[in-house]
Amino acid sequence: MNQTEILGASDIARAAALLRAGELVAIPTETVYGLGANALDAHAVKKIFEVKGRPADNPLIIHVLGTADLDRWCREIPASARLLAARFWPGPVTMILKKSPAIPAQTSAGLDTIAVRCPQTPLTRMLLAAVDFPIAAPSANLSGRPSTTTLRHVLDDLSGKIPAVLDGGDCSVGLESTIIDLTVQPPMLLRPGGITLEQLRSVLGTVTVDPTVLHPPTSSQAPKAPGMKYRHYAPHAPLTLVKGTPSASAAYISAHCRPDCGVLCFEEYLSCFPSAQTICMGSMQDETAQAHLLFDALRQFDETDVQQIFAQCPAEQGLGLALVNRLNKAAGFHIVNLEVKP
Ligand code: AMP
Ligand code: MG
Repeated sequence: MNQTEILGASDIARAAALLRAGELVAIPTETVYGLGANALDAHAVKKIFEVKGRPADNPLIIHVLGTADLDRWCREIPASARLLAARFWPGPVTMILKKSPAIPAQTSAGLDTIAVRCPQTPLTRMLLAAVDFPIAAPSANLSGRPSTTTLRHVLDDLSGKIPAVLDGGDCSVGLESTIIDLTVQPPMLLRPGGITLEQLRSVLGTVTVDPTVLHPPTSSQAPKAPGMKYRHYAPHAPLTLVKGTPSASAAYISAHCRPDCGVLCFEEYLSCFPSAQTICMGSMQDETAQAHLLFDALRQFDETDVQQIFAQCPAEQGLGLALVNRLNKAAGFHIVNLEVKP
């Protein structure tokens, strides 16, 4: 493959032509960059799996322009789907619904359901308006690496491996979309993200949470989103997640970290680890900033020679649930829990 073209707002027709020809184009969204292909073209979708090294049993999310697309690509749509779309689309929530036969099995990894999302980012909406098919797009990273939230991340992982990337600048949310399964009653949260559990419950009432959102999968309890069972978000050096109040986690980390350690910490604690390599994940009060910085921070550690990483852990409310979920996985559930049991 030749060099990856970097496309902008004046190149939407070029990006659309590539997709129509069955090629891959990385696309910006408010959550993370996606590696896009025509969702109706099984051959194009296969290229996504090849380029990412993605296991074939891990289905893709299809991206659509709006609520009208639900009826085109899904069946037996419950009222809850229309309620969520009216409230949160375009936005970072993905719904699992029964799929239309028009969606090939390669896109849904053989499942009878399909994950559907309506992104916010203007460039990608222009691209969706320019084609007459949904765009299948998983995160635009190599499988196992942290998701890509900047153009630079996409080029680091995929330069020379895909024909083009649409440059939409940095992703505003920085974590992958919330995934909710609407084919079960009550609806079940499969992956926390930018639309919080609290927001989902405010619209739908009862929403259950897949136990593997916060706990390691067991042999009898696999995650309902196939992709959540894979090692993910992991930097090269092993990461230990330290749960507890920020001051307690800072004290623990400063007592245990050696000069060859890295520390992922809140801005307020940057000066507490003078001998370690620190990377800031925003203020402890600002979950939006933490979400925005997390994957870049994990990738930055891979450019250092740290042998072990300690991370302070956000609280689990609101966007914090998504942050803790990603950090748990980045740590392979290697957790030091300093929380005082009530
Ligand atoms: P990514 O876009 O890379 O964040 O991956 C999409 C996520 O959505 C993966 O964890 C998939 O397993 C999950 N997913 C996609 N389609 C479905 C589906 N039909 N049912 C459950 N989970 C899904
Ligand atoms: Mg992914």
